[in-house]
Amino acid sequence: MLEEKVFKTWHHGRCVLMGDACHKLNPAGGHGAVTAMHDAITLANLIYAMPTKTSDEINRIFEDYQKERYPAVMEAFKGSQIMAKSIEKSITGALVLFFMTRMPMWLWRLSLKKMVQYRPQAGFLPNIPLQGSVVPIVSPSEQKARALFENQQQQEQQAASI
Ligand SMILES: Cc1cc2nc3c(=O)[nH]c(=O)nc-3n(C[C@H](O)[C@H](O)[C@H](O)COP(=O)(O)OP(=O)(O)OC[C@H]3O[C@@H](n4cnc5c(N)ncnc54)[C@H](O)[C@@H]3O)c2cc1C
Repeated sequence: MLEEKVFKTWHHGRCVLMGDACHKLNPAGGHGAVTAMHDAITLANLIYAMPTKTSDEINRIFEDYQKERYPAVMEAFKGSQIMAKSIEKSITGALVLFFMTRMPMWLWRLSLKKMVQYRPQAGFLPNIPLQGSVVPIVSPSEQKARALFENQQQQEQQAASI
């Protein structure tokens, strides 16, 4: 038996969920762990860029976290359901498998591009130079953390040069 779910509520007060605790994807999609890691990176970026440590601010970043991650999680969820269908012993399963194994290469490339385009980085660490041919989408949380990190780096360099 394989559980599948995406909860509507991911946080309450100072408690927040990530990974399988708020979205359990079918393993057939091979996306569960990477989705959990993307949650962790997003949350870490938002915590790093927090201007104050008040309860209101904590609540606000949890809302931003869910708003940013929910669409990506739903994409992965739908993808994992399609992949799960392909291994199902049914007419639908046979049809999905038939089309998947006969998909033209350009369509595979398009779907792979969509899959790898969203790969958030920890904005509070040095930027990883672009590798491969798919330019990543920079998420709002990464942008916030990156701006703060680069500002701090500049200040440290200026202080060191005095
Ligand atoms: C068969 C299978 C194949 C998979 N293949 C892939 C794959 O190819 N690629 C991929 O990306 N994902 C895959 N996944 C999914 C992936 O394993 C999960 O999505 C991922 O491990 C989720 O990480 P998590 O940290 O959210 O949860 P978990 O890895 O489940 O971690 C939760 C941890 O909390 C601990 N815990 C639970 N209750 C308590 C408690 N009360 N107190 C203290 N600790 C507690 C548990 O012991 C566990 O260590 C697969 C899953 C399965 C089942």
